[in-house]
Amino acid sequence: KARNSHEPEFLQAVQEVAESIIPYISEHKIYKEKNILLRMVEPERLISFRVSWVNDAGEIIVNRGYRVQMNSAIGPYKGGLRFHPSVNASILKFLAFEQVFKNALTTLPLGGGKGGSDFNPKGKSDGEIMRFCQAFMSELYRHIGPNTDVPAGDIGVGGREIGYLFGAYKKIKNEFTGVLTGKGATWGGSLMRPESTGYGVVYFAQNMLKLKGKDLQGKRMVMSGSGNVAQFAAEKAIELGAKVLTMSDSGGYILDEDGINTEKLNFIMTLKNVKRGRISAYVEQYPKAKYFEGERPWSVPCDIALPCATQNELNGDEAKQLVEQGCTCVVEGANMPSTPEAIHVFQHAQILFAPGKASNAGGVATSGLEMSQNSLRLSWTKEEVDARLKEIMAAIHQSCVSYGEGENGAIDYIKGANIAAFVKIADAMLAQGVV
Ligand code: NDP
Repeated sequence: KARNSHEPEFLQAVQEVAESIIPYISEHKIYKEKNILLRMVEPERLISFRVSWVNDAGEIIVNRGYRVQMNSAIGPYKGGLRFHPSVNASILKFLAFEQVFKNALTTLPLGGGKGGSDFNPKGKSDGEIMRFCQAFMSELYRHIGPNTDVPAGDIGVGGREIGYLFGAYKKIKNEFTGVLTGKGATWGGSLMRPESTGYGVVYFAQNMLKLKGKDLQGKRMVMSGSGNVAQFAAEKAIELGAKVLTMSDSGGYILDEDGINTEKLNFIMTLKNVKRGRISAYVEQYPKAKYFEGERPWSVPCDIALPCATQNELNGDEAKQLVEQGCTCVVEGANMPSTPEAIHVFQHAQILFAPGKASNAGGVATSGLEMSQNSLRLSWTKEEVDARLKEIMAAIHQSCVSYGEGENGAIDYIKGANIAAFVKIADAMLAQGVV
């Protein structure tokens, strides 16, 4: 703790895992004897580097770039790149730590890492984004590779940025190789990668509800975010009959009591992905809806809540309000969106709660499938990838059930996800010796 006392997000993520793992370790002494947990919380490597680039005004801007290579016990480091002004070592270490566990759950051979920069893409021209990506890759390229470390997108890094990063890598290395995932479908990308995190979240929710003899039909769903994860979670939820009431961005949220249907969602997708506009524009297009500036959507009564924006976006008071108003299922689309206080409320109320490392693993799983396709130099159909994604989400759900089932039959998905992933990684570390 002392070594990382200046890294609150990282400590929060480790604490949550440690609470599940420590009782397990005390019953399985080999992990304690070999000091596995302490080894897991120290990144194998943390790289920090200068990214200097020239903006449209001709000024030289300096940002900080990072790559956290957290754990490679079960495969090459794998995890996204985040471009956001809030990025720092603590946030990336928390994300990399979570990623290690998430990747272990996917059933695929993927280690864990995360990276990014404090660069703010908002308001930047296309040329500025490209020059930044090229400058970023001019250092990152020496630390990554298809068998070493395979980055992907995250907040602020979508298809456009992956394209510029990939182009820069290819130019420097003179190599067309699967070094990044989230590529375009005609140049090595997997079909379904854009959809996969959001669809996976909803498939996971379906699995949770099914165990209780329920489904999504007619359920009131409150969702935050309007980026990649939220858009496709909404698309799949609408297809399966849920009534999606809200979406948000960092400016506020919109509430549409008639439900966001496919046409309205297409409007949001164009607004966010093409026009790069604000969610508030929704109410100009659909005046019956309401916009709540500077607020989050958790006060809206619902059956199911999907936080899909960012970390610590749902606090204890908001969790209480959700539960009091009848919410019985919370499935995390973002990474660590619920604060520890919020999780405590959900667990105390014994409602269904899925941590992001289990429920949003569909994205990285499909990235793993993209790596397989790149190695095979083949491209699978959308149906094939979707079928594998469904299977993987069901397998992750089953792992959570196997390790998280309590005496009363209730499933502790946090405990289940943490222990299932821990055992897989720890056993690989034990087998590979002290390295
Ligand atoms: P995007 O950048 O596509 O979208 C992020 C969304 O969250 C935007 O609507 C954004 O609003 C909002 N947001 C970001 N920061 C804040 C904030 N501080 N307060 C309120 N709203 C905020 O990112 P993704 O959809 O890809 O990622 C969302 C979450 O899901 C992240 O936690 C990410 O780590 C996680 N995740 C993503 C995966 C993927 O495949 N994309 C895979 C697994 C997890 P605005 O536009 O105003 O910034």
